[in-house]
Amino acid sequence: MNQCPDIERIIWTDGPDAVPSDHIDDCPSCRAESRRAADLQAALSGMRNRFATAPVGLESKIIAAVNRRPMDRARVVVAHPKFWRGAAVGAGAAAAVATAAIGVMRARRRIAADAPVVASEVA
Ligand SMILES: [Zn+2]
Repeated sequence: MNQCPDIERIIWTDGPDAVPSDHIDDCPSCRAESRRAADLQAALSGMRNRFATAPVGLESKIIAAVNRRPMDRARVVVAHPKFWRGAAVGAGAAAAVATAAIGVMRARRRIAADAPVVASEVA
C-alpha cells in the first residue's frame, strides 16, 4: 500500500491521533507504527512533572520507535511541536527528553555500528 509512507509521516509529525482510522484498521504496519508513537506520547506525558528522570521503559520505547531509520525518526520527533503538544509535555520537558533520547541513540549507534555519528545526522 503506497499510502504507508505518508501515513507514517503523519504519525510522527501530527501524532497518531491525526491518522485516518480506516487506514490504521486495514494496515498492520501503520497500526504498529501508530501504537509505537502513542506509547512514546504516553511515556512523555507521564514525565510532565518529572523533568529530569525518564520513566522506566522510555528508553526502550524510543529505541523501538526509531528502529528503522533512527536519526530520521529522532529528527522528526524533535522537530515537530505538534507531536509534543499531543503528548501534553511542557517545552522544557520536551527539550530535556529529546536531548536525552538523542544521546541514548547516538551512544547505542556507536556501540552497535562501531562507527562515528556524523554531525549532520544529529542536527
Ligand atoms: Zn499503512
